[in-house]
Amino acid sequence: MIKILKFGGTSLADAKRILSVSEIIQEESKKNQVAVVLSAPAKITNNLEKLIKYAKKKKKYKKIILKIKNKFLKIITKISNKNKNISFKDLYKIINKEIKFLKKYSKIIYLLKKCPKKIFSQIISKGEILSTYIMMHILHSKKNKIILINPVKKILSKGNILDSYVDINQSIKKIQKIKISNQSIILMPGFIAGNKKKELVLLGRNGSDYSAAILSACLRADICEIWTDVNGVLTCDPKIVDQAKTLKNMTYKNIIELSNLGAKVLHPKSIYPLKKFKIPCYIKNTFNKNFYGTKIYKKNKIKKNKYNFSITYIDNIYMCCIKINNNQIIHKIQKKLLNSIRKKYISIILFSNSINFNYINFYIEKKHFKNTNKILKKIYKNSKKNIKKIKIIKKLSIISLVKKNVIKKKDLIHKINKIFKNSQIQIINTIKNTSKNSISFIIKSKNKNSGIKLIHKIVLNKNNLIEIFLLGIGGIGKTLLKQIIQEKKSLKKKNIIIKICLISNSNKILFKENGINIKNWKEKFKKIKNKFQNKEKLIQKINQIIKKKCYVNPIIIDCTSSKEISYKYFKYIKNGFHLITANKKFNTGSIKNYKKIRNLSYKHNKKFLYETNVGGGLPIIQTIKNLKQTGDKLLKFQGILSGSLSFIFGKLDKGILFSKAVQQAKEKGLTEPDPREDLSGLDVARKLLIIAREMGYNLELKDIKIKKILPRSFKNNINVEKFLKKIKKLDQYFSKKISQSKKNKKRIRFIGTINKNGNCKVKLSEIDKKNPLYKIKNGENAFIFYSKYYQPIPLVIRGYGAGKQVTASGVFSDLLNSIL
Ligand code: ADP
Ligand code: ASP
Ligand code: MG
Repeated sequence: MIKILKFGGTSLADAKRILSVSEIIQEESKKNQVAVVLSAPAKITNNLEKLIKYAKKKKKYKKIILKIKNKFLKIITKISNKNKNISFKDLYKIINKEIKFLKKYSKIIYLLKKCPKKIFSQIISKGEILSTYIMMHILHSKKNKIILINPVKKILSKGNILDSYVDINQSIKKIQKIKISNQSIILMPGFIAGNKKKELVLLGRNGSDYSAAILSACLRADICEIWTDVNGVLTCDPKIVDQAKTLKNMTYKNIIELSNLGAKVLHPKSIYPLKKFKIPCYIKNTFNKNFYGTKIYKKNKIKKNKYNFSITYIDNIYMCCIKINNNQIIHKIQKKLLNSIRKKYISIILFSNSINFNYINFYIEKKHFKNTNKILKKIYKNSKKNIKKIKIIKKLSIISLVKKNVIKKKDLIHKINKIFKNSQIQIINTIKNTSKNSISFIIKSKNKNSGIKLIHKIVLNKNNLIEIFLLGIGGIGKTLLKQIIQEKKSLKKKNIIIKICLISNSNKILFKENGINIKNWKEKFKKIKNKFQNKEKLIQKINQIIKKKCYVNPIIIDCTSSKEISYKYFKYIKNGFHLITANKKFNTGSIKNYKKIRNLSYKHNKKFLYETNVGGGLPIIQTIKNLKQTGDKLLKFQGILSGSLSFIFGKLDKGILFSKAVQQAKEKGLTEPDPREDLSGLDVARKLLIIAREMGYNLELKDIKIKKILPRSFKNNINVEKFLKKIKKLDQYFSKKISQSKKNKKRIRFIGTINKNGNCKVKLSEIDKKNPLYKIKNGENAFIFYSKYYQPIPLVIRGYGAGKQVTASGVFSDLLNSIL
C-alpha cells in the first residue's frame, strides 16, 4: 500500500515536534510504502514574506533574517544534541547557504524597492526546502533509504507564479519515471512546483496540502494523510470554539465547500486530484496520533456522522457594491467586471446580484483590494451614466454554516437571525450559496469570534439552551443551584438545557463561557483566589463578561440584595439578557425607573421577572397580571406580607412573650440578621408598594404609611445583641395589647392595606374571626384581593411566603417562564 503523509507547519514548529514527526514516518514506513510532503516550520513562511515586504519598503529587514536563522539553528542544535548520528556541521552548512541566499536577494530587493515574482517565490519557499533537508538527515541517521523528489523538476505547473495550478497528467508522467524501491522513504518539499521554463513556482499559501494531493495522484497512492495540529475536520475552528467536535467522515463535496469558505484545515485546491483519483484522505493530529481523525471520501462510502455541520469563516474581507441605475445594463457591467477581475487573478469569495434591486455585490480578501479598486474606478469612469454609486465596506468577516440543505432550514436561519439581533450583532448580508448546502453571514470583523461561537452553539444545541448568570449565592442562590442540579435530567427530557455560565458572590466570580461543571461548583468557587477589592470592581467585571455577545439565551438572576447591582439592570437588558430578580431594591426604587425598565424590556423583547419580590414563591405578581389581562379590576388589597411577623404575632396569641417570639423567629432564620429590619415594617412596606404599583398606582416608597410596631419611646440605636435583650422591656406592653384584643374576640396582626383610592398603610390591626387573616400564623403569608370579579368573597392566596426552598423555587419558575 502506498501512503502519502503530509506534515504541516504546526507539526514541524520545533525540534521536538520534528523528531516526533520523524517517528511517525518511520512507524508508517515499516508497514507501507510512504511518501512524505513537508511544509515549512510554523511562522517561517510568514517571516519570509515579511522580510520581502520590509526590504521593499527599505525598512530594517536584517533582524528578520537573523530571526529565521536563529530558529533553524535552535532546531538543528537540539536535534543533533539528541541524536549524535546527526551532524550539526552538515546541517549548519545547508542552513548557512540558504541564509546567504536570503541576505543577497533581500539586498537586491532593498535596492530595487520591488521584488520580482521569481525572486519572491524562491525566497518564500526556503522554509519547505530546509524542513526537507533536516528531515532527510534525521531519517538517514536512522538508516532509512531516502528518495528526494525535486518538485521544480517533477511537478509541472501553469498560471500565476505565486499561485499556480498543476498539470496532473504531465506530472504523473514525470514522477512515474522515478525508480522507487520498496524500502525507501520518498521526501518532497510542499508548496513548490516548476513551470515549463523549469522555474520554481508556488502553489499558493497553505499549498503543501495541494502538493500532497498531487503526489498522491502521481503515485496512485491508496491513502493521503494530512497531519496537522487538530483532531481532524471539526464542527468549527477549535482555536475559536473549544467545544468543536470532530466530523468522522466527510464527502469530497462537503470539504470543497468548507475549505472554499475558509476552513484552513485543507487547502481547496487539494480536493480535485484526490476526488479524481478516488483517493481517501485522512486528516490526522500529530499531537494525538492514535485519534481516528476525519476520513474524506466518496459520497456512497460515507458512514453517518454524529455531527453533520461545520462552521467556517474568512476574515479581513471587503464588500464591493455597485449600484446601477438601469437594470438592463447590469449583465453588461457584470461581464466587464468579472473579466477584468479574472485577468488580475483576483478571487471573488462570494457574489450576489439583483436585477430587481439593481446591484452587484461581491466580496474579496483585503490583499486584492488595491487591484479591485482600480478595476472599479475604471468601470465607473466608462459607465458613469449607468452607475449610481460604488460602495466599499471594509473590515468584514464571512461566517458560513455548511450543512446539507441548510438553505431550506428556515427555522434554523430564523433562529440565527433572532439570536444575532438579540446579541446586537448586525448581519450586514446573508448569502444562500448556490449549492444549497451552505449559508454565509456577513458581519463586522470585530464580531467575528462572537458570531462564530453563537452559530456553533445554536446548531450544536438543538434544544432550548438557557445560560444562567447567577449573582448572589446566599440561601436562595445556593438552593436554586441545588434545585437546578436536581431537575437537570427531567428538563433535558423537555428539551431544556440549562448551563450556568457565571456564579458570583460579593467578591468572587466563577465564570465559564460554555458552562461551569455545576456538580462541583462549590469546590471550584472555594478555589478561586482572585478576590475583588470592592463591589464596584466586581460589577465592572460582570459588565465586561456580559458584553461578550456570544450567548444564545442568557439570563441574569439577581439573588443579592444589592442596590448597586440593581442600578445595572438597564444595562443587562440592553445587552440582551432576560432578568430575574429576587432583589426588591429595583422595584421599590423610583416609579420612573419602575416604568422605564418595563418599557425597555418590552422594546428589547426581554423578560423581566420578579415573582419572589412579594410572597416568596407564592404566585402573587403573576396572579395580579393575569387578573388585569383578563379584564378584571383590582379594587382593594389586604395582606400579611411578612413571614417573620406572621410567626411572631402567631406566637403572641399563644401567650408567648414578645422577646421570646422574636428570639425564636430569629433562630428559625425567618428574620433578617437584624430583626429590627422586619420589625420596622419597611420590608412589608416595600412589598406593599410593589403590589400597589402592579395594581396600577404610581406611588413611591414614601407614600406607604408605616405605623411602627415598637412604641416610639423605645430607643434602639444599639447593636443586635443588646437590642434582643432590651426588648424584654416590651413584653408587658405587647401582653397587654394581646389580652385586650382577646377580650374583644380579636387578634393582632401586622397588616398591609391598599384601599380603593390607592392609599397604602402598614400597621398593627385588630381583626376578627371573619377576616381570612385571623388564622395566619407560623410564618404563613396571606394575600386578599378584592376585585370587580372577586366579590363579595375575595381571592385569597396563602402559604409560606419566605424561606430558601419556596423562594428559590419561585425563582426557578420565573426561569422556566422566561423561555416560554
Ligand atoms: P498546518 O500547519 O498543519 O497546515 P493549518 O494551520 O494550515 O495547519 O491548518 C490547521 C488549522 O486549521 C487548525 O489549527 C485550525 O485552527 C484551523 N481550522 C479552521 N477550521 C477548521 C475546522 N473546521 N476543523 C479543523 N481545523 C480548522
Ligand atoms: N508554508 C506555506 C505557507 O505557510 C505552505 C504550507 O504550509 O502549506 O503557506
Ligand atoms: Mg495548512
